[in-house]
Amino acid sequence: MQDDRLDALRERFWEKYPLNQLNDTEWEALCDGCGVCCLVKFLDDDDPKFTEYTDVACKLLDCATGHCSNYTNRKQYVPDCIRLTADMVADMMWLPRHCAYKRLHLGQGLPHWHYLLAGQNRHDAQMAKVGVRGRCVSESGFDDDDIEERIIRWVKI
Ligand code: SF4
Ligand code: SF4
Repeated sequence: MQDDRLDALRERFWEKYPLNQLNDTEWEALCDGCGVCCLVKFLDDDDPKFTEYTDVACKLLDCATGHCSNYTNRKQYVPDCIRLTADMVADMMWLPRHCAYKRLHLGQGLPHWHYLLAGQNRHDAQMAKVGVRGRCVSESGFDDDDIEERIIRWVKI
């Protein structure tokens, strides 16, 4: 996140306010940019613990950077891309365990390495362990049977 936007955040807002009282800038600031929610996954609606992630990513994800290649206009190309809101988090326990939205919903606080607590360098170092950058492939060219062969275990929920 750009420094001028960081300046607009209320001090330690993630501790003082519930998710549904954050402004847009604060809400966006919570995302660590791991890209895990952009991976194709198989969900069991009745039991999020049975979520199986693959290393196959949404066609808009840039697998080299781990970021959406067209975030602003993504809905034009991926209509079912989820815009996460505070009301939705309770039903999204398939998010990775480090995801700030999930953690705050569960009362766990930010992960200790999150850039809002630890600065960008430590944050970036942790991204090599939990993020998708450099270890996913685009869904373009894969069919459903191929994707089922790409289950991974490095996403912890
Ligand atoms: S899993 Fe959570 S922290 Fe990671 S990119 Fe998605 S919303 Fe952001
Ligand atoms: S459109 Fe962008 S943000 Fe949405 S799932 Fe795809 S890569 Fe992720």
